[in-house]
Amino acid sequence: MRILVTGGAGYIGSHLVDHLLGQGYEVVVLDNLSTGKIANIAPHLENPRFRFVNDTVLNEALVEELTRSSTLVYHLAAAVGVRHIVADPLNAVLTNVRGTELILHSAYKYWRKVVLASTSEIYGKAQKVPFEETDDRVLGATEIHRWSYSTAKAVDEHLAFAYADKGLPVAIVRYFNSYGERLDPRGYGSVIATFIRQALAGEPITVHGDGQQTRCFTYISDTIQGTVLAGESRAGEGQVFNIGSPVEIAIGELARLVKRLTGSASPIVTISYEAVYGPGFEDTRRRLPSIGRAQRVLGYSPKVSLEDGLKRTIAWWQEHSRP
Ligand code: UDP
Repeated sequence: MRILVTGGAGYIGSHLVDHLLGQGYEVVVLDNLSTGKIANIAPHLENPRFRFVNDTVLNEALVEELTRSSTLVYHLAAAVGVRHIVADPLNAVLTNVRGTELILHSAYKYWRKVVLASTSEIYGKAQKVPFEETDDRVLGATEIHRWSYSTAKAVDEHLAFAYADKGLPVAIVRYFNSYGERLDPRGYGSVIATFIRQALAGEPITVHGDGQQTRCFTYISDTIQGTVLAGESRAGEGQVFNIGSPVEIAIGELARLVKRLTGSASPIVTISYEAVYGPGFEDTRRRLPSIGRAQRVLGYSPKVSLEDGLKRTIAWWQEHSRP
């Protein structure tokens, strides 16, 4: 069985590739290394069951060929990270909508199952928590670039459901703040990466706003568990699943936890959203998944506590990201 992983050189994609190769599958990665890194897949480059294609999901003929020659597609290639989106909104919308359209179009043509990676950003600034897959989405104005990511991924989900209506086996996973080994060492685009980098460098740990905003951080092995279950489960086809930890933490508290676990002397400082993202930025105040559906249908069960996951991530960081 040959599996195509788009975005397979990225942070989540490369962990998925490790898992699939470990299970004995053949794996093809399509990644243009925009945010993915060759280092993430370097250990597999000589593996005869592995092939890396350095190209974009916007290459229609290539997407068609790779989809045709695979039995299952995990579509993770996307422009991701709020900061990237805000910095290059046009690329984000085009990649995230057009790329998924091409993948689903090919998958339908050759009748291949697709697992679509989506995001908790889908829920926007909805205030009812925990977020259920069936909940309303609450977004800000289109003038605020942040919401383009949520909107593009929602279009992707609509496309997936539209193909599912035509009988195509598709499952959608909405990731909630995944973290772990291989988070970008520049600390770009994820609060855990940023805090660990700052703490280890002895720089101030920068909490945005009042630090009371919350997230549910999900260790990478639990993210992969949910993704693979969605790929394997027949019952999950035609459905969307929250994949995340149900344990909520405020960002201010996360800063203190990272400081303690790294033994850092860094001060914890607060900084306004405006200073970081420019005027008009809107944050999500609380983000908490309901994982009942994933538990019930997929048998999903996140296992790794935030403290254990952070310890592993910090250890990896200390080993890999010295300048
Ligand atoms: N954040 C922060 N300091 C940082 C980076 C992020 O306080 O240096 C906050 C950010 O404003 C948000 C939360 O941490 O409230 C999570 O941010 P991230 O970009 O990791 O993911 P999001 O959940 O917003 O997509």
